[in-house]
Amino acid sequence: MTRPTWVPAGTDPETPNAARVYDYYLGGSHNFEADRRMARKAIELWPELPLIMRANRAFLRRAVQYIAEQGVTRFLDIGSGIPTFGAVHEIAREVEPRARVVYVDRDPVAVAHSRLLLADDPLSEVVEADLRDPAALLAQPAAEELLRPGEPVAVLLVAMLHFISDEEQPERVVGQLRDALPPGSYLVLSHASLEGRPDQAGPHQDLYRRTPTPLTMRNREQITGFFDGFELVEPGVVYLSEWNPETPGSVGPHPERMTGMAGVGRRT
Ligand code: SAM
Repeated sequence: MTRPTWVPAGTDPETPNAARVYDYYLGGSHNFEADRRMARKAIELWPELPLIMRANRAFLRRAVQYIAEQGVTRFLDIGSGIPTFGAVHEIAREVEPRARVVYVDRDPVAVAHSRLLLADDPLSEVVEADLRDPAALLAQPAAEELLRPGEPVAVLLVAMLHFISDEEQPERVVGQLRDALPPGSYLVLSHASLEGRPDQAGPHQDLYRRTPTPLTMRNREQITGFFDGFELVEPGVVYLSEWNPETPGSVGPHPERMTGMAGVGRRT
């Protein structure tokens, strides 16, 4: 079988990878049978998983669209996974064709796929870095270049801050990013929260505790705290589908079942 152009040489298709599993949940085509098997197993345990992932991605779309409409052309997407299927550069360029995006992930597999996918895109860069060391991340040439002109930058921490435990001080991490941003910049954040599903809190925390990427779910107050130094864009921190829905009907009957909260803030 010939290797598709997005697959780096040496990739082991038999070992599932979280970024490719996520691509499968979103309905993308950048995944292998081993990834799909793992996704199907997780869906058996938690049937709403693909819906939650899609609600998260739909929030990302609305938030990026909103920010591009405010005239922002620079985006720093941290914890980007594989930028397929409604990636930030595609969404932003529907509004602003000159939009530049720096994609950052700590997973070398996601980074390798991303580099191949974006090889022909002169306005996108892919960086391998870990958000837990924000100074090193911001010192990467692509990030430095994005920030250098002093124009507003939108930082995306979408479905990724829950991978940073309390001991790793997520407030410090977000604060260091914030302090590097020019006024008028934006923070886009979504975060796992089981406030709306107290019945599920125990089992799901347990499920994730057994994986290599344990989740720390946080409540609305804690998630709102990450916007310190930002002015929240209306309607504030809400369930994923409640953030500026395209139509009132698109919120769905039980937004709290999507177990994620989201918000957008503007640096003051
Ligand atoms: N942001 C995309 C979205 O919402 O559609 C992808 C979210 S995916 C669930 C989370 C991504 O965050 C994964 O690709 C993972 O490798 C990355 N990630 C987790 N912790 C990270 C860290 N400390 N630094 C950089 N990336 C991280």
